[in-house]
Amino acid sequence: MPSPDQQRWLRVKERLRAEVGEEIYQSWFASMELDRVDGATVHLTVPTRFLKSWTLTHYSEKLLACWQAEAPEVQKVDVNVRSAVIRTAPPKPRIPESIESARDPRLGRMDLGELRAAYAPVSSGHDALGGSPLDLRLTFDSFVVGRSNTLAHAAAKQVAVARRGEPVMFNPLYIHAGVGLGKTHLLQAVTWAGNHGAERKVLYLTAEKFMYGFVSALRTQTALAFKEALRAIDVLVIDDLQFLQGKSTQAEFCHTLNALIDAGRQVVIAADRAPTDLESLDDRVRSRLAGGLVVEMGQLGEELRLEILKTRVTAARQYHPGFDVPGPVLGYIAKTVTHNGRDLEGAVNRLLAHNKLTGQPVTMEMAEREVRDLIRPQEPKRVKIEDIQRVVARQYNVSRADLLSSRRTANVVRPRQVAMYLAKTLTLRSLPEIGRRFGGRDHTTVLHAVRKIEGLVGHDAMLADEIEVLKRQLQE
Ligand code: ADP
Ligand code: MG
Repeated sequence: MPSPDQQRWLRVKERLRAEVGEEIYQSWFASMELDRVDGATVHLTVPTRFLKSWTLTHYSEKLLACWQAEAPEVQKVDVNVRSAVIRTAPPKPRIPESIESARDPRLGRMDLGELRAAYAPVSSGHDALGGSPLDLRLTFDSFVVGRSNTLAHAAAKQVAVARRGEPVMFNPLYIHAGVGLGKTHLLQAVTWAGNHGAERKVLYLTAEKFMYGFVSALRTQTALAFKEALRAIDVLVIDDLQFLQGKSTQAEFCHTLNALIDAGRQVVIAADRAPTDLESLDDRVRSRLAGGLVVEMGQLGEELRLEILKTRVTAARQYHPGFDVPGPVLGYIAKTVTHNGRDLEGAVNRLLAHNKLTGQPVTMEMAEREVRDLIRPQEPKRVKIEDIQRVVARQYNVSRADLLSSRRTANVVRPRQVAMYLAKTLTLRSLPEIGRRFGGRDHTTVLHAVRKIEGLVGHDAMLADEIEVLKRQLQE
């Protein structure tokens, strides 16, 4: 049973979630924890300095208000950084030392996260540039090319080898994919390769770091210098753009983007969704982003997963010559751990740790046990609004333009309502967003359509069947 304070905190979190919406909540509050309540002061903690400063600058009033709604006696909310025991441990660039210390009783209790931290990616001097830390292992050499990422890889490679002053072929280069499918790997590869000649300046920034840089520049009144510095680089690489929040940061990002592109500099961006689906961004940014080359990376196929595993094992063998994974075991993992590249990495790490700690060779039985929880049910496919519009238009023999138009004849109205209904039920898009994507309609129109269809399927068996068929086509 959580303490009364913890219970109150859970309710405060629910309030916050309701007020700021799921997306912002996940970005800023999901990792926030209650430390203690001390009289009229609430002490909260977050994992990073950045989160602390961001939540304090942007959300301290909201936090206080939500607390006061649950506990009127609260007068102050304090946010601190949780002690980052693992993060601040000295970096251990090579695996052997960390694993060799197996005599260390701590190791027995290491969970996967800690184990990963022990492998700690080595960050380069890149940090001094004000960029985000880079992982030495994420290069083109270790990136495996397969069907799902051929185009993204080729485009990234092209950007990386371009010389200063050469005309830029596609700008920005925008790569999108779900979690763990190699976006960060590819972007860091571009950064490593692009910086190599030292002739060009390539800066890798997560969207969070971009915001942080901008926000702290504003606070210290060095915003101008910050902007100038950004505009002085040849290639700007921004990761996880979906986290870019806040009107003024977005406006700044838009200016930077325009300035760089107009000056013929290259911009490379990764996000977990297409530009059109970046709901929180304003239209100008969105259309500028969509104006370059937009490439999606799909799920990793089995062959690609197998190759990634082999590359990982080979890399580990550099430091652990005794480590080996038999072919059938690799095949088994490639077949069953289908979710994403992170899970593949986790699987190899576990086998390695097990092998090092027990001294026993990797067998099928051990692999089955170690990776059991990495075998997840297939995630439902991400359905896109465009696909819905295309499939519905085809089914009802109208054009996609008809669906987006303002025509109100019966033969378009119903398909349009069906498409909106499917958009609401098969995607996570909000009503206003769906309205926007259907020719700039109001969210109440969308709501009306959704209710209408919901009501009809109850007693119109034919419509219910049609919708089932459409759903199946979209989710296959
Ligand atoms: P994302 O940024 O898209 O969430 P990451 O780039 O962090 O994903 O990839 C997750 C893990 O999977 C990393 O360990 C990465 O090296 C690995 N990975 C993903 N795709 C590939 C690939 N094509 N080749 C080699 N490793 C890959
Ligand atoms: Mg990433």
